[in-house]
Amino acid sequence: MKRLVIFVMLFGLFGAVQAQEMSNRVKQFVALDAPAFALTNATVIDGTGAAARTGQTVLVENGRISEVGSSVTIPSGFQRIDATGKTVIPGLIGIHNHTFYTTSQRRIQLDETAPMLYLASGVTTIRTTGSYAPYSEIELKQAIRAGQRVGPDMFITGPYLTGGEGYTYMTRVRGAEDARRVVKYWAEEGVDWFKAYTMISREELKAAIEEAHAHGLKVTGHLCSVSFREAVELGIDNLEHGFFTNTDYDSDKPLDECPSDFRESLIDVDLKSPEIQATFKTMIDAGVEMTSTLAVYEMYVPNRPPLEQRVLDAMSGEVQKEYLQTRSSIAEQNSAMWPQLFAKSQEFERAFVAAGGLLAAGVDPTGYGGALPGYGDQRNFELLIEAGFNAGEVVQIMSLNGAHVLGIDQNTGSIEAGKAADLVLINGDLNTNPALIRNVELVFRNGLGFDSAALIRAVEGRVGVQ
Ligand SMILES: [Zn+2]
Repeated sequence: MKRLVIFVMLFGLFGAVQAQEMSNRVKQFVALDAPAFALTNATVIDGTGAAARTGQTVLVENGRISEVGSSVTIPSGFQRIDATGKTVIPGLIGIHNHTFYTTSQRRIQLDETAPMLYLASGVTTIRTTGSYAPYSEIELKQAIRAGQRVGPDMFITGPYLTGGEGYTYMTRVRGAEDARRVVKYWAEEGVDWFKAYTMISREELKAAIEEAHAHGLKVTGHLCSVSFREAVELGIDNLEHGFFTNTDYDSDKPLDECPSDFRESLIDVDLKSPEIQATFKTMIDAGVEMTSTLAVYEMYVPNRPPLEQRVLDAMSGEVQKEYLQTRSSIAEQNSAMWPQLFAKSQEFERAFVAAGGLLAAGVDPTGYGGALPGYGDQRNFELLIEAGFNAGEVVQIMSLNGAHVLGIDQNTGSIEAGKAADLVLINGDLNTNPALIRNVELVFRNGLGFDSAALIRAVEGRVGVQ
């Protein structure tokens, strides 16, 4: 009965989506397009933070999960997919996932390969946290929703908002009124979020937040000139990168300025100090989530991450050369600071969650190019396990918590009856071996199953070019 009600309620909506003409560009990657199917005998890590459960059946009807459990009767007419020896997790929700990419030599829009790599890696929803090309992202988001392009569902931030001394390729706002003008313009152009950057002043940030909120939109920040606690007091909604960008603990920091050496000073911060808990409490009381982006920072730790052939294969020849050169020079410099800072950041994220904070995650495919779209999200899974979270917690951080940040947790983010069938089928037992996060076979968006291997083949050699 319950299933019937859900079916009737949602049929209109999904009937409309499926009636749209799917382009050949999308169709070539679809491996399963069935109105009703059952994944049987799967290990399910459902995204709610619960531990893995074995012997599960997941029923999907018209793009929605209709039932999950160990004693589910499969109605006639359902296509059966044997998931013995496989794990099913919710589609990952990347909260810091650009469509551009950088190496030490280039900054390039990956309009073609980034969306394909995200989907291939099991990332079914992204927020582009800071945009260099908001119009192309708005266009891409609409094309994906219309079935014309393949990729994750997208939430777009406007251009980076920084201060007068910031990078020239960002919007350098000149005072509060200017911040309001820019936010109003992009809100009307259709972006979903804004991201403030390292040189913005408190006054400019406050104005940007007020204007965004007036349009029903939210603001996150990769901050420095404004500290975490200051930003929360100004009304920010989300904070990026965790410990790496937190200037709460630098007592000599001039207001509204970003000290060039603040990262070195983080090494001396005592994570057991009340100051740390004060940051957490300020954030938690205000409902401000934190985004973990371990994969992008890991590449500054000498000889990390382990060199993966598939990462090199995805890159164009030039990009591969640039990446390997920077990687070797970091290994030669052999920084003593980075291994410590990285471990401390992992500890900071654990402590935030232990204090009751909501942690989400994203790849941030920037830096010198070692964290590719999607592949870096998968690396985050291992790095959060390394930080001390268990598999159930990590899946939650990377799915339901991201959905919460985006305000879509009623619709997606966990494997529960009534939610969209955004699912990842992984070959092997992810619960006992985090490296298996790479063994994605099928990625479902609203029940439509995409062939991960085919998507990966299609991007080979193109990352850094298209
Ligand atoms: Zn970023």
